[in-house]
Amino acid sequence: MKLVVLPGDGIGPEITAATLAVLDAAAARHSLTLDLAEHDVGHASLAKHGTTVHPDLLDTVRRADGFILGPTATFDFKDEAKGEINPSKFFRKSLDLFANIRPARTYKGLKAPVGDFDLIVVRENTEGFYADRNLEQGGSEMLVTPDVVISLRRITRLCCERIAHAACALAVRRRKHLTVVHKANVLRIADGMFLDICRAAAAQYPGLAVDEILVDAMMAHVVRDPARFDVIVTTNMFGDILSDLTAELSGSLGLGGSLNAGLDHAMAQAAHGSAPDIAGRDIANPTSLILSTAQLLEWHGARKQQPHFVDAARAIDAAVAAVIAEGHATRDVGGSLGTAAFGQLVAERMRR
Ligand code: NAD
Repeated sequence: MKLVVLPGDGIGPEITAATLAVLDAAAARHSLTLDLAEHDVGHASLAKHGTTVHPDLLDTVRRADGFILGPTATFDFKDEAKGEINPSKFFRKSLDLFANIRPARTYKGLKAPVGDFDLIVVRENTEGFYADRNLEQGGSEMLVTPDVVISLRRITRLCCERIAHAACALAVRRRKHLTVVHKANVLRIADGMFLDICRAAAAQYPGLAVDEILVDAMMAHVVRDPARFDVIVTTNMFGDILSDLTAELSGSLGLGGSLNAGLDHAMAQAAHGSAPDIAGRDIANPTSLILSTAQLLEWHGARKQQPHFVDAARAIDAAVAAVIAEGHATRDVGGSLGTAAFGQLVAERMRR
């Protein structure tokens, strides 16, 4: 498997190093042939090449079987004319990575403040309220007067259909329960269409139970009783917010895996940001990127019919759970282990 590795900003290089230690152990244990190539992205690339995303990088990741993108300091990148491209947006849009799959589950050994659960948020990834990727040219935020701003949200039938089917296909492989999260009482046309399309898609999957919840009420439901949810499908911005909540409810934002998948390409990416407040201190939790990378291996294995990649992915999930169950944890989840030490423990567990 040809893998491109882009460590990114802030805690990115630290959690990427921990992830690569686990990947190395997974390769040894499951006889994976991995061909890794590391490239700069974000601030490191801006300093070296005058742009956060080198123009050759798109072809490089296109030629690979998948890539790992560490978190990047997207809030710093404001002016594309100065080379400040949001790498996350760039790859999602350029490679049409329409499905953002964000699992969240509780772990034995960690406090579960709202009870145990195991769910997946399936978030549309290429349109919605994201002003920097909605239009072919230009952004979809307009300054009408110094005191008036219009931000546009784009919802299309195609994007609704493909995310709805991605979620249904996932749900039928799990507990066969899909929850559609929307705001069709206010965004009647756009979310009305999203809801209709999700209902029509779900009807094509026999045995799939479906419920529908307004996004505001969902915040209460998921805190009150997260165990009732299996696969949750929603639009881009709602999914971004909801999945940070579900990751935090599982113990920490640092625990949430995230795969961005299209038909031909996939990108593993931590669900959280570059966490500049804790960068460079070896205290970040690398679990999110480790689990995202496992999702990428599973995606590749399923696509290329190479079951040993799927086995390796499951073994990484299991190793993370086992290490946490033994009481090893980083600071964000009440432990004292550093980023590198946690990665090493997961890697050692893989080698057993
Ligand atoms: P953040 O997700 O980086 O951090 C939020 C909080 O969670 C912070 O207190 C941070 O210390 C903590 N946290 C995050 N990841 C953690 C981890 N792995 N282990 C332990 N604690 C962790 O959000 P932010 O501070 O609002 O954003 C920082 C930068 O990241 C901004 O430039 C933002 O635009 C960018 N961002 C990037 C992505 C991405 O690359 N996918 C996503 C979100 C935010």
